[in-house]
Amino acid sequence: MNIKILKGIGPARTAALAQAGIYSVTDLLDYLPRDYDDRSEFRTVDSLMEDMVQTIRGYLHGLETVTKPRRGTKAMTLTKAKLKDATGMLEMVWFNQPYLDKYFKRGMEYVFTGAVKRAPNGVLQMTAPDYEVVAEINLGAGRIVPLYTPPKGFSQKTFRALVYQALARLDDGLCVEETLPDDLRVQYGLCTRVVAIRNIHFPESDEGFLQARRRLVFEELFLMQVALLTMKGRVRSSVGRRFVAVDMMPFFDRLPFAFTVAQARVLGDITGDMMGGYVLNRLVQGDVGSGKTAVAMAAAYIAIQNGTQAAIMAPTEVLAHQHYEGFSRVFAPLGIDTVLLTGALSVAERKLARTKMADGTAQMVIGTHALVQKSSRFHNLGLVITDEQHRFGVNQRFMLTERGTEETLPPHTLVMTATPIPRTLALILYGDLDISIIDELPPGRVPIKTYAVNSTYRERLHAFIRKETQSGRQAYVICPAINAREDDSQKTDLTKNELKNVTDFTQSLVHALPEIKIAHLHGRMKPDQKQQIMADFKANRIQILVSTTVIEVGVHVANAALMIIENAERFGLSQLHQLRGRVGRSTLQSYCILVSDAKAKQTRDRLQAMVETTDGFVLAERDLEQRGGGDFFGTRQHGLAAFKIANLYRDASILAEAQAAAREAIEAGTAGGELVVLEAAAGKYWGVL
Ligand code: ADP
Ligand code: MG
Repeated sequence: MNIKILKGIGPARTAALAQAGIYSVTDLLDYLPRDYDDRSEFRTVDSLMEDMVQTIRGYLHGLETVTKPRRGTKAMTLTKAKLKDATGMLEMVWFNQPYLDKYFKRGMEYVFTGAVKRAPNGVLQMTAPDYEVVAEINLGAGRIVPLYTPPKGFSQKTFRALVYQALARLDDGLCVEETLPDDLRVQYGLCTRVVAIRNIHFPESDEGFLQARRRLVFEELFLMQVALLTMKGRVRSSVGRRFVAVDMMPFFDRLPFAFTVAQARVLGDITGDMMGGYVLNRLVQGDVGSGKTAVAMAAAYIAIQNGTQAAIMAPTEVLAHQHYEGFSRVFAPLGIDTVLLTGALSVAERKLARTKMADGTAQMVIGTHALVQKSSRFHNLGLVITDEQHRFGVNQRFMLTERGTEETLPPHTLVMTATPIPRTLALILYGDLDISIIDELPPGRVPIKTYAVNSTYRERLHAFIRKETQSGRQAYVICPAINAREDDSQKTDLTKNELKNVTDFTQSLVHALPEIKIAHLHGRMKPDQKQQIMADFKANRIQILVSTTVIEVGVHVANAALMIIENAERFGLSQLHQLRGRVGRSTLQSYCILVSDAKAKQTRDRLQAMVETTDGFVLAERDLEQRGGGDFFGTRQHGLAAFKIANLYRDASILAEAQAAAREAIEAGTAGGELVVLEAAAGKYWGVL
């Protein structure tokens, strides 16, 4: 139903609502409150507590508006009203809302909600409280009141009234579609969607709210599970190519190190699957620097010795190129042909790579998502590896698997990630995968020392960089932006904490440290330029690399021992951990310096967590606790939309129930039409099918 059917919604408001993604009444009802205020109880003046938001009801006594001229800017108006009840007097103040002078009527009864303070002259005051006329409908008081993030152009009050109006339409037959089958609702003790929507906006009671929330959280997680399990159903096939054991000695002889116990165990899991006649479908989790590449290489060696092709997909060109070099170094002397395919190649080069993939001369194929394009055909793809899976959308993972030819069995798939998702969650999110964990770092690694500083440390930081580079080490400096112009729009809310950009920051470093070789890198540079810079950095012809997060994942330069992250407040914990993982990749003592002037408690806590631990799993738990998964599993990380209501940390038990329910529904529903409806709902909700 179009939003225009609601009273008071003209063209301007329609546009404002559209800005917030609200086009229909249904969209409006899906726009959930961010918080609630329990205003079901009214206070008396003598029972008001300072510094707390409270609601009070009483008759309006004094009312006056004064205008104070101010030099240079517009005059300021101050509206003061007095409320009186049997126990005392309270003063209310509003700034620059002169119309209030006409709105309020002396002698009428109002309800006010706001924070109470004692003014310097000893009078109790509420500053800019919410107000409501008692005689009119009482949306803003006498109940648990929803607080929204109102779209631009709406006040809390007008938006609240609009939602209320829409809810009233539910009685005149506006339908809120039920997404959950009835028997499932009953089985899991969930209220209907209509009841949930009513109570999530205007809870009748605490229980009503909890019921509503449980229902909506369940729905969200349930639909996510249906979406994930459906995708899994598309590629799941228990019969796989049966590989035979091969002599690994030629491969191991080429490696400059011996496998750690953990690497050997994980390789054992992988070969067990590949040689057992099943399709390998495995997630390898290992903290940054744990040596996932070598395990992937060993698996590829087995596939290739079994006469099939192996492919590895990396999220960035820089990383694909690095893998190309690393794989070629080991494989070329073994007579294995390794081919690189990225969007950065020339048309002719790409064509040649594709020809070699299609006729099978390319045994090892390394690329970016250019690999999953339609024109990429393989001759006989036996193993697909996705590196840094968390950087790809869920869909892309399946697309490469589907690149095999129709007449052959599906390829084995290996998924690698350094995002240390807590195991319980990994089981759910990657419900279709078996999991192996590399829980050990190569020998001799020294824990990275991490410090959080603010920009008053600039001079000392320069001195530290100088000292490190003089003793032969190299450094990364990460800035969130590429150049000054690009982020203008964001600059406004960063008044105190200026956003650092690669271009200007490189200049300032060159100026401060003229004797040091400094270069910069970002995603918008030409591919060959990027490769040149990386090659120079690897060869220590560049001592400091100022970069955006293009080097976030996978990049390996063992001699880099210093990581400086500017505007550290801009990055989530998982991302900071990834960035820090670029150093500490040798036996050198490495350092990570987080530079931030942000003062918000959440930010300080986050940086402190980085200082306290280098354990990716601990950090992932913290991240989840702080952000509830809204972002953790957000678009960037997993190709899934962010959660509207669920909090993966707090709602872990509902998640378990939702997963069980989704399994049952899919098993029971494979024959019926209900599943199709569910899948469509899930696909729409998560935008992944
Ligand atoms: P990640 O797990 O983050 O992808 P890499 O595979 O890039 O880590 O490995 C990091 C570094 O550790 C590489 O230089 C690699 O050669 C080295 N390495 C891997 N396994 C071992 C090992 N068993 N012993 C010593 N060094 C190793
Ligand atoms: Mg890696």
